[in-house]
Amino acid sequence: MNSHRKLEAITPTTASGLLRAGAVVVDAGDVRFDSAVRYGGGRILSIEPASELTPSEAETVLAPGFVNAHAHLDLGAASGMPAPAGGFLPWVSSVMRRRESLDAAEVVAGVRRSASRLLATGTTTVLDIDATGLALEALAHSAIRLISLRELIDGSPAEPDGRTRAAMAEAREALERVPGERRAAGLSPHGVHTVSDALLADLARVRAGAPVAVHWAETAEETEWMLSGTGAFGQWLGPSPGVSGVERLSRAGLLDGALLIHGNCPAPGELEQLSGRCGAVVHCPGSHLYFARAPFRLGELLAAGVDVALGTDSWASNADLDMRREVRLARETLGLSGHEAWRMATEAGARCTPWAHVTGRLGVGDAADIQRLRPRNSAWRTRPEGGQLLDLLTAVEPEVQSVWVGGVLAEG
Ligand SMILES: [Zn+2]
Repeated sequence: MNSHRKLEAITPTTASGLLRAGAVVVDAGDVRFDSAVRYGGGRILSIEPASELTPSEAETVLAPGFVNAHAHLDLGAASGMPAPAGGFLPWVSSVMRRRESLDAAEVVAGVRRSASRLLATGTTTVLDIDATGLALEALAHSAIRLISLRELIDGSPAEPDGRTRAAMAEAREALERVPGERRAAGLSPHGVHTVSDALLADLARVRAGAPVAVHWAETAEETEWMLSGTGAFGQWLGPSPGVSGVERLSRAGLLDGALLIHGNCPAPGELEQLSGRCGAVVHCPGSHLYFARAPFRLGELLAAGVDVALGTDSWASNADLDMRREVRLARETLGLSGHEAWRMATEAGARCTPWAHVTGRLGVGDAADIQRLRPRNSAWRTRPEGGQLLDLLTAVEPEVQSVWVGGVLAEG
């Protein structure tokens, strides 16, 4: 998707340099020991064998920065919120109350706090759901590569009302902005259960290839209500659409290339309908643990031909915004290899951005989105197979020493 904007979206920068390390992770399937990465104009210019590394270079690994496929940066002020008793709906209410209590300065501070934490822990690209319209300006001086997805919500699949028209205007305004270097604009109709058919259809009309992310099938109660109108969500949302979330998105013309967030409880037939259509489903392991959800059905998704990326979600439902931790949790809870967890934390998310096949890997010509890592375990210096290095990097969070985005050194 978005091939017309894929390369132009990165404005060349003047930063250039040569980085040497004991290993370079080009991508999940290509690890090169004792190598040097030369970058300039925001891109990787070459990867060459290196000799006579200094001890501090030799003990580090250069790797592509993580792509965090789902975050709400503006909930940076919501960390430490105790989980309310009673399950998911009381949590939604408490987050909404918390959000409404924040003034613009607090939102901006929260966005910056979230982005700083992501950069400091190796994330170079984030797909952020922006509920306030403040995120782009808040991050005007941040190095992070940002896909700012304007959150649009008009309450339920029922008849359109004033909120629908307001959301349509917000969508147009978000897409008309010129986001700037390392920035892209997109749309996030909040959830398959919280937006009207009229809003979905309007977003499909104005999308024009822009990234789209939608919350989908997060809870069994949501899926039950979507199909039959019964259960706890009926009190909250009123009449149900009587069809699955995937079917609603498909009918509206919004399914292709969309990023579907969570996907914990698909309805029968939805996975088959997704195959080859959506960009990826985003799994958020830390948020999944916070809500003590049933095991994520990764095997079924992959078997249906649906790719899965990883995200942090927000501080309102996670202990940290740290993709290293999400990768470790994904391995621990899903039984993944280091190779597969690494791919889900980099290339899988990158495919759903305007920088597909440019970030998420460190090949020649790719963006110079780089992290220098120091593994906690020195066993990798015996030059294991590349896959074993990825196993070590993802089993225990490595130290992140430095991060570059488009060749620009990020200030944590
Ligand atoms: Zn979310």
